[in-house]
Amino acid sequence: MTGKKLSIVIPVYNEVDVLPELLAQLERLATSLAERFQLTVGFVFVDDGSTDDSFAVLDSHDFGQRPVRLLQFSRNFGKEAALSAGIDAAQSADAAVLMDADLQHPPEMISEFVRIWLSEGVDSVYAYKVSRRNSEGYLKAFASRLFFWVINRNIRYHIPPDAGDFRLVNHRFMKALRSLPESDRFMKGLYGWVGFRQTGLPLEPPMREHGQSSFSAFRLFSMTMDAITSFTTTPLRLMAMAGIFIAMFSAAYGLFVIIETLFFTGVANGIASVLTLIAFFGGMQMIFLGLLGEYIGKSVQEAKKRPPYILAEDITREGDGVADR
Ligand code: UDP
Ligand code: MG
Repeated sequence: MTGKKLSIVIPVYNEVDVLPELLAQLERLATSLAERFQLTVGFVFVDDGSTDDSFAVLDSHDFGQRPVRLLQFSRNFGKEAALSAGIDAAQSADAAVLMDADLQHPPEMISEFVRIWLSEGVDSVYAYKVSRRNSEGYLKAFASRLFFWVINRNIRYHIPPDAGDFRLVNHRFMKALRSLPESDRFMKGLYGWVGFRQTGLPLEPPMREHGQSSFSAFRLFSMTMDAITSFTTTPLRLMAMAGIFIAMFSAAYGLFVIIETLFFTGVANGIASVLTLIAFFGGMQMIFLGLLGEYIGKSVQEAKKRPPYILAEDITREGDGVADR
């Protein structure tokens, strides 16, 4: 043994259908990782307030000699919070692998992550999706493209498009993530924000075999708004620029109308154009105010300094197969 410790962190939300298969695959993976790289491999499961039996299944599973930590949230806090909890729980590990429970993140790739981490000394190895068609609709793919375009406009760090949460993070990378105090945690952004040396590997995501993605279109929209407003103030600047542009245009048009009335007989025409303009600018103002409100709302949320999650259960099994609470 090189004595290095690797934690595999898995957020679990109503995944009772996939758990048996997941646990079997994880055990095979952990055994092969331990042999190939001389690592101690442990698991951290974070049950994000599942309403099914996911936690009971995990709790009653026989993990044998493997070090396992089982966390249960007091309610559903979201995947980002679950990942944060997993990273907090992996304090003593030299590296952690973050993967989904739904087997859309192929465990085989993890040995590649580990190989690169150990041999090339990078701080994080992540998978990026090469084709989104497989698992997601065109709309979702387009929304995600647009989102990354906006977010990568104006920042000193890069958030790779198509990079998911499937990644390995080493000790100091995790320490950096833990040091970020915000309670609203958009992890894909935070990985980019902390910096360090990162390498991406291509991944063709397989279809979800059981259950459904728990992210609806509405949820994706609000997550997108959240992510944008917590990582860039570019939209505020765009608002100001649009304002300046419209003001200049109106001034020029006003001048044109004055000249027209004074020197030509033309009279400013119909009410339709006026109504259209009022409606148009009314709409613009509501969009701008809404956007501004997003930023203010975000400040209010963060000002409360609430923790990102609350634990209901925290069970540690140190390899003897006996639970101690
Ligand atoms: N998940 C979670 N909390 C949630 C929603 C999802 O912990 O509120 C977990 C879920 O159990 C899975 C991972 O996050 O392990 C990804 O979820 P999903 O497959 O629904 O998302 P997608 O693959 O569409 O991104
Ligand atoms: Mg999934």
